[in-house]
Amino acid sequence: MWKTGWRDRIWSEIQQSWDIIIIGGGITGAGILREATRVGLKALLVEAHDFASGTSSRSSKLVHGGFRYLKNAQIRLTYYAVRERERLLKEGRGLIKPLSFLMTSFPSDPYPAWVMGMGLTVYDMLAFKWGHKYLDAEGLRELCPQLSNPQLSGGHRYIDALTDDARLVLRVIREAVLEGATAINYTKVEGLLFNQRGSVCGVQIRDVSNEDSMLEAEVQAQLVINASGAWSDDLRKLAHGGPLQPKQPHLRKLRGSHIIFPQDILPMNRAISAFHPVDSRPVFVFPWEGVSIIGTTDVDHNQSLQFDPKISEEEINYLLSVGTKLFPDLTLNRSDIQSTFSGVRAVVDTGKTDPSKESREHVIWHENGLLTVTGGKLTTFRMMAKDALYSARNCLSIKIQSITSHRMLDLPESEGFWDTNIAPSLRLTLLGRYGNDAPQLVANAKSDEFHYIGNCQSIWAELRWAAKAEGVIHLDDLLLRRVRLGLTLPDGGIPWIGEIRRKVQLELGWDDNRWKREYDRYLKLWKNSYSLPTD
Ligand code: FAD
Repeated sequence: MWKTGWRDRIWSEIQQSWDIIIIGGGITGAGILREATRVGLKALLVEAHDFASGTSSRSSKLVHGGFRYLKNAQIRLTYYAVRERERLLKEGRGLIKPLSFLMTSFPSDPYPAWVMGMGLTVYDMLAFKWGHKYLDAEGLRELCPQLSNPQLSGGHRYIDALTDDARLVLRVIREAVLEGATAINYTKVEGLLFNQRGSVCGVQIRDVSNEDSMLEAEVQAQLVINASGAWSDDLRKLAHGGPLQPKQPHLRKLRGSHIIFPQDILPMNRAISAFHPVDSRPVFVFPWEGVSIIGTTDVDHNQSLQFDPKISEEEINYLLSVGTKLFPDLTLNRSDIQSTFSGVRAVVDTGKTDPSKESREHVIWHENGLLTVTGGKLTTFRMMAKDALYSARNCLSIKIQSITSHRMLDLPESEGFWDTNIAPSLRLTLLGRYGNDAPQLVANAKSDEFHYIGNCQSIWAELRWAAKAEGVIHLDDLLLRRVRLGLTLPDGGIPWIGEIRRKVQLELGWDDNRWKREYDRYLKLWKNSYSLPTD
């Protein structure tokens, strides 16, 4: 898929008649591509930037039922999400990992612990398992001594799951491609094609991988699916030939931001969920890939989506006050923050004053032949793909059979790979992140590349592999999504950049000028959207 010359090959073959074209290479597009390929459809996915560069690399990384959605009576969403979580835990071992949570209880919380206990009972019942337990304050502190607030009255332990969201997207796309799908990044849909009846029948695309490229094409399909997340209304406007009418559904763009701390400043061996001290929204603190994260906010995002979203000063203060409530002895402050990230969620706008009250369920709209699938969650990507294909079945010449029994992720053929000297936990992680490519990654590695980069949980061999074989176009693809060093190393990994360059420049085939341009681009992006605001 991503061997030398892969883009030229795709572009030379792109002008054929596809069964479906999917716009957007986040988890929604990836899931649809995977399921479409399984049912025998000839499918093309085009992504305007990098795979997973939208919201799907900026989520809270939880594979969960969304316990908080029970509060908003979104039982259906929670039910499907916990069932999908269970499936992902089983099928995506090494990539989706169980995570123990402590749900804290304080006298100032909007609900007492016993009400939360009842909610957790429902949460567990929906998953057909019993995983929660009440603990008093001492019991909680035994598991997490950092919980130093004397007001802590008790709480519950329960289990959810955690993943690397960008790697999940890449694995799903990779497995679809191995089964015959086509997926290309840095290929933007700039217009839609219409048949004589005025229905969408294709897309106009342009190669945006570099400024000099003149590549563009018109590509036809039986069905065009708009899986462009927060950008979906832009594509819908093209399908309608102008602005959306007030009576048509609109999307509301909500930004969620996170702050990241080094583990030595905020040591976490499990996740904490708590009500925010100001507005009582549920918020999380959790360990991820060698760092600790506090998130998330939920605010209207009124900026242009042309630019990467970034955290505001108010959001930083909002999230720091969670740290102050839970861990007063750690005296967390702004200068302790290592990095930040923000994502934009697309939800159907019903005009609610409180953004958090808007439904997180996915929606499917057929408009002039364009099928839009958006909303939902990372966790429910398979359900969304299934629903999208069912609802499109009359537009396709292939009959779509039931796809509920399909695996979400392929079972990696690990034979031969298990004989190596790599520690079992690392082997499992590599199999989870890279699926059937893991043995090749190991074979490609040099003997000194099996140690972790700094304090993060990625090894040097992964960086070399990603540079060589994972469709990297820009340095930010490599450092923010293939291997998450931009989030997990101090200063976006800049102190390591010399060593990183020695490992990857040759694999990427970049001369020194290109390296410098890429480095400058990465630094600008990181400072703008992944560090603390400077003005
Ligand atoms: P995106 O990932 O945004 O993908 C859309 C893609 O379309 C983008 O990559 C974009 O570049 C591309 N695109 C746009 N226009 C074009 C065009 N013209 N041509 C080609 N491509 C185009 N869910 C969970 O299950 N667990 C969580 O913990 C969780 N936490 C979250 C935290 C936050 C802060 C947010 C915002 C969401 C969270 N979610 C979570 C929800 C989940 O992240 C999203 O539902 C999911 O990532 C959306 O995926 P998507 O593919 O629909 O959109």
